[in-house]
Amino acid sequence: MEVLASSTGPMSATELLDELRKGQRGAGIGIATIYRSLKRGVEHGELIAVELESGAVRYEPSDLEHHHHFLCTGCSRAFDLEGCVKNLEQLLPTGFEMTRHEVLLHGRCAECRIAG
Ligand SMILES: [Zn+2]
Ligand SMILES: [Zn+2]
Repeated sequence: MEVLASSTGPMSATELLDELRKGQRGAGIGIATIYRSLKRGVEHGELIAVELESGAVRYEPSDLEHHHHFLCTGCSRAFDLEGCVKNLEQLLPTGFEMTRHEVLLHGRCAECRIAG
């Protein structure tokens, strides 16, 4: 939970495990434990599972403001974007009503751009 709360975007179970191991907090923690606590977090309504690409589930805290994501094609990390797109309704055909929307930006993050 802590790691996800301070993360720059939604994380997958393996990313979480890597992050925990980096900070020494993950000593002895296995991927099964991560999956279990993520599942519990979703059941308790503390976490939301987001599937930005098919087959790749990432998790984020459920109390975040409305936001969208940036998916880096270099490192495959997902980043939170602040705010939203204005005037999306302009895209609607006459007579249509929008009830929800998703926006996903693809590209390379700053680190991957520097790395070339
Ligand atoms: Zn990247
Ligand atoms: Zn939006």
